[in-house]
Amino acid sequence: MNAYIESVISNVRAKHTSEPEFVQTVEEVLSSLSPVIDAHPEYEKADLLNRIVEPERMFTFRVVWMDDNGAYHTNTGYRCQFNGAIGPYKGGLRFQKNVYPGIIKFLGFEQIFKNALTGLPIGGGKGGSDFDPAGKSAAEVMRFCQSFMTALYRYIGPDIDVPAGDMGVGGREIGYLYGQYRRLKGVWENGVLTGKGLSYGGSLIRPEATGYGAVYYLQEVLKHEGDTIEGKRLAISGYGNVGWGIMKKAAQLGAKVTYFAGPDGYIHDPDGVTGEKLDFILKMRAEDPMHCKPYADKYGVEFVPGAKCWGVKDVDIYMPAATQNDVKMESAVKIAQSGVKYYIEVANMPTTNDALNYLRQQKHMIVAPSKAVNAGGVGVSALEMAQNSERLVWSAEEVDEQLHRMMENIHRVSAEAAEEYGLGYDLVAGANIAGFKKVATAMMEQGVF
Ligand code: GLU
Repeated sequence: MNAYIESVISNVRAKHTSEPEFVQTVEEVLSSLSPVIDAHPEYEKADLLNRIVEPERMFTFRVVWMDDNGAYHTNTGYRCQFNGAIGPYKGGLRFQKNVYPGIIKFLGFEQIFKNALTGLPIGGGKGGSDFDPAGKSAAEVMRFCQSFMTALYRYIGPDIDVPAGDMGVGGREIGYLYGQYRRLKGVWENGVLTGKGLSYGGSLIRPEATGYGAVYYLQEVLKHEGDTIEGKRLAISGYGNVGWGIMKKAAQLGAKVTYFAGPDGYIHDPDGVTGEKLDFILKMRAEDPMHCKPYADKYGVEFVPGAKCWGVKDVDIYMPAATQNDVKMESAVKIAQSGVKYYIEVANMPTTNDALNYLRQQKHMIVAPSKAVNAGGVGVSALEMAQNSERLVWSAEEVDEQLHRMMENIHRVSAEAAEEYGLGYDLVAGANIAGFKKVATAMMEQGVF
C-alpha cells in the first residue's frame, strides 16, 4: 500500500481507538486509493487525506423530552457535517439505542463518497441520536422530534445541510421534524429535509428508492456478466424499507426474494415474496418490527429461528440489507462455499473488512459495495431537493426513470474507474476511486482549509 495512505490510516487508528466503525470505513476506503495517490502526488503535497478523514464540523446537542407519564428523559443528538466540497451536507438521521460518535462518523464518511457517486451536488453528512424508538408512543416520538429539531434547526437549511431518514427515522419522524422547523423559522423551506410526505413536498418513489436502486444496480452487474435478472432467486437480510423495495422491484422484473432474515431468524419462501405477501410484510413490520416469524405462520413456509440465511445454496444472489457488520468472517466463508456468484452489499457497511476482502478474493464471485448499490436512496433525495427548489412535483415515472439512469451511471463510472487503474472489474475499488476523485478535485480547487 502507498506509504502516505498507511500513515493516514495509522493516524486515524491512533486517534479513534474508541470508534472502531469509523476506523473500519477509513481503512476500507483508503486502502482502495493507492493507484490514485501514486498517480497524483499533488494530493499528498496538499495532505488531502488527513483533511478528508476529519469532519468539517461535528456537534452534539442535548435533547430532553417528556414521556406519556410526565417523566423527563435526556438523550444526545448528533450531526456530523463531514464534507461540503461538492454540495450542501446531505445524509440521514439514525435514531437507535447504540448510536454514538463512531457510528455517526462512519456513516458520514461513507456518505461523502456515496453522494459523490450519485453525480448530483450533495456533500456528506449524518446525524441521529441514541433515542430508542422501540415501544414509544406516537406522542412521545413527536415530542422527541420537536425537541431534537429545536436544537438543530439553526445549523441546517436547504443550502446548508439537508437531513433525511435512516434507521428509526421514517416518514412520520420527518413530518414531526419538518413541522417544528417550519414553526421555528417561520418560512416555507421544505428543501431542508428529504423523505417528506407527499402532501408537503415529498418525492414519489423516495420510500422505495434505495431498494429499487439496488435492484437496478444488480441488473447492471448481471448485464456485465452476460446474464439477466429473470428467474433469479435472492437471499436478503432485513425487510425494512430497503428490503421491501428490493422484494417489490425484483418481483416486477421477474426475479424473486426466496429468503429473508429478520432479528428473530430467517424465512424460506421458495415461491418468493410477491403480490399480497408484500402488503403483509408492511403490516407485520408496523405491528412488531422485531419478528418475521408471523410471515411463516401465515404462509406455511419454513422459519429458522435465531439464524441468518448466509450460506444457503439454492439462491443466485446475496444482498445483505439489514445493518452494519451483519456479515462477519464466519458467514463470509459459508457464502463463499455456497458457490453463489453475486454478493451485492446494500446496507451501509454490512460486511466486516476481513470478510469483505475474503469475498473479493474469491475467483468465482462478484462483490459490489453498498456505497454504490444503495446510493439511489440519497440520489432520489437530491431529486426531491431539486423538485422543492423548482416548486414542482415530478411524476413517479420520471423519478423512477432518473433513478434507473443514475444507477446505470454509478455502475459504469465505478467499473471505468477500476479499469482506468488496471484493477479489472473491481466494483469495490472502483466506487471508492470514482467517489474520491470527484470530492478530491473539488477540495483541491477550493484551496486549503
Ligand atoms: N440514510 C440514507 C443513506 O444512508 C439516506 C440519506 C438521505 O436520503 O439523505 O444514504
